[in-house]
Amino acid sequence: MTESTFFTFTALALGLCVGSFLNVVIHRLPKMLEQRWKDDCADLAGAVPAAAPRYNLVLPRSACPACGHRITALENVPVLSWLALRGKCSACRAPISPRYPVVEIVGGLLAVAAYWQFGATPTGVAAAVFLWTLLALTGIDFDTQLLPDDLTLPLLWGGLLANVFGLFAPLRDAVIGAIAGYLALWTVYWLFKLIRGKEGMGYGDFKLLAALGAWLGWQLLPVIVLLSSVVGALIGIGLLVFKGRDHSVPLAFGPYLAIAGGCALFFGPTLNKLLLP
Ligand SMILES: [Zn+2]
Repeated sequence: MTESTFFTFTALALGLCVGSFLNVVIHRLPKMLEQRWKDDCADLAGAVPAAAPRYNLVLPRSACPACGHRITALENVPVLSWLALRGKCSACRAPISPRYPVVEIVGGLLAVAAYWQFGATPTGVAAAVFLWTLLALTGIDFDTQLLPDDLTLPLLWGGLLANVFGLFAPLRDAVIGAIAGYLALWTVYWLFKLIRGKEGMGYGDFKLLAALGAWLGWQLLPVIVLLSSVVGALIGIGLLVFKGRDHSVPLAFGPYLAIAGGCALFFGPTLNKLLLP
């Protein structure tokens, strides 16, 4: 077995396991935030927060939402368990969403892509962490229209830290990218609000674009915004045509930004030359 085959399989296996953890993050982080907000509200109102059972990314152990059956270690092997169980709970046969193995496979493929592009180097590892975080944000925003600060802010700092070592962009471009990314969508938000009198996007979107600017440098911001608009328009039109979606409901912008940011990591400089010569 050659070294590159070995590293490809290692990246895939690691990525599948991280994907499995990202399923937990996507499912639990919004519920944890909701609980935190409730506690904060109770605290502000001077009430004693209701005692809630411990709920975090580790505890309680994963269980079937239909029957409460504890997921055993053997049932927790990424993708394979889902296939072996034919997508059903082993105790009550309730269907398990195919989204779980899909997130695991995407986590694995992102790690392989990061390795192929950047090698088994600190840049490759950082790229995988960047892509995995975007995957978690995509899932959470898709479900809840939230981009939690608990993910967007560490992503932003992580990008600046990676570029202290110049892994993806010179530090100067990264710092300007973070500021410009935030301000660009902040400006759009306020213009939209002044003209249309309603909110077109959330603060999470500003922070996510700031994070993308911190990772990739300000030069890629126009390409990211353009790509996310194209992806968003295509998916939006698709939903409208196939599902008759009510277009007064705001569409989550975060997933498109995240997908565009991931693409920009690999193809950004090339696209930049093509689109903005
Ligand atoms: Zn069950």
